[in-house]
This record gives sequence, C-alpha cells and structure tokens, in this order.
Amino acid sequence: MSSRFGVLIVIYIAINLLTVGVIRGQEATEMPRPPHWTYEGEEGPQHWGDLAIDFALCSTGRAQSPIDISQPQAVNLADIAFDYQPTALNIFNNGHTVQVAYDAGSSMIYNETQYDLLQFHFHIPSEHTLNGEAFAMELHFVHRSADGDLAVVGVLLRESDAANKAYAPLFDNLPAEKGDPQPTELTIDANNLLPAERLYTTYSGSLTTPPCTQGVRWLVLQTPVEISHEQVEAFAQIFELNARPVQDQNNRDLLSDNG
Ligand SMILES: [Zn+2]
Repeated sequence: MSSRFGVLIVIYIAINLLTVGVIRGQEATEMPRPPHWTYEGEEGPQHWGDLAIDFALCSTGRAQSPIDISQPQAVNLADIAFDYQPTALNIFNNGHTVQVAYDAGSSMIYNETQYDLLQFHFHIPSEHTLNGEAFAMELHFVHRSADGDLAVVGVLLRESDAANKAYAPLFDNLPAEKGDPQPTELTIDANNLLPAERLYTTYSGSLTTPPCTQGVRWLVLQTPVEISHEQVEAFAQIFELNARPVQDQNNRDLLSDNG
C-alpha cells in the first residue's frame, strides 16, 4: 500500500468520524426538553395534563396528590423508623422550588421497606390541607426504595412568632436565582426538621409536579412544625405560590396512625 493511499484512508476515516460527531452533536441539542410548566396561567395546574403526552396523568390520573386530609380512618400503623444523618447543605433553586440534595446514607423504614432519602424541598402554601385548611408551607422529604418505589414524608409548617433555629440554615440561604446545587460550608440534619411527634396519615398518591407519576406512598406527619413569619416571607420573596391544588380522593384509603 502506497503511503499516499494510506493518507487518503486516514483522511476518509477522519471525515467519517467528524460527520458522526456532528450528527450526534445535533441530536444532543435537538433532544426534546420537558415542556415548561408553572403554577398559574396557561401552563398552570389545570393545564399540566395537556402540555405533554408524558404529563397526561396530571389530568387523567385517579390517584393524584395532594388531597384534603379529612376523616381519615384511625388505625394502629407501624411507626416510621427514621435514620437521617447530617448532610452537607447542597441547596438550589430548580425554577419550581428550593431543594436540598441529600447525601447518600440517610433513609427511613416504612412497612419493612427501606427508602433512601434523596432530597427535600418546599411548597408555599401547603399542598395537603387539613379539613380544608392550608398551612403556611409544606416540606417534602422524597425517598426511593431499592425497587424504585417512591415515598414522600410531608411536614406541615405553621407560622408562629419565633424563628425556628433548625430551619435557619435553609431560610438564611435561599437561592433567589435558578441554578445548580451549590456546595456550602454548612451542614443540615433532616432529623431536626421533623416534629418530635411522628404520627402520620398515609395514602397512595402521586408526584405533585409534572409528570404527576402515581404509585407514590404519602406519609403526612400529623404534627405541624412552627416557623416564623419572617422565615415564610423569605421563601415568599422567591416563590409566591408553588402548591398544586388538592385533587379528588376518589375513594382511596386514607389511614391515620392513632399510635
Ligand atoms: Zn413537593
């Protein structure tokens, strides 16, 4: 083989690799992005189901969240066994809420299944209501089991006079602008964000944001945690409203742990 022929082959291969690279690059930039959605107006909760095929459950689902918690059936349920550890505070604004990405190693056990804590985030006002009454805010601890099942622990936040010290690292560091998780020097312990009393009400629901995926085990703690008006206001400066309205219960079991 002449060296000239060899050079031609190398050039030919190089052009082919380049072309593949360019096409791949185009595909990457043309990947459909999830549609934009909001909490008000034409891309608000009443329209989520129409914004994308993947969002259909938001309007057709029969086991959606949140719901109004009223007249639950009181039964003796197993306690939730929390095993939360402190984590570096990785807090960020994802455009819909302020979220904290939790380090691996924290979990809870519910009904003999271990669920790892992935993240927690806030809603204003609360998404779940109690006998029709909304609370100032709601905190969602999102967990996933080894099988991929989701369980969310909801904590209702009520406004009071005193600032809640355990929540201070969060409310003092709320990112106003949308962005990626920012490592901070701070740590946070999710244990301290929970109420001392951990009786809960449970039902099978969904994600409260698109795509509204169902099969989510909801565990809403019955005892609210108190935070100050200033702490609520700090969040309201960034998100005025990011709560989905309550959905039909559709005769789902709603069980409340009576201890
Ligand atoms: Zn949530």
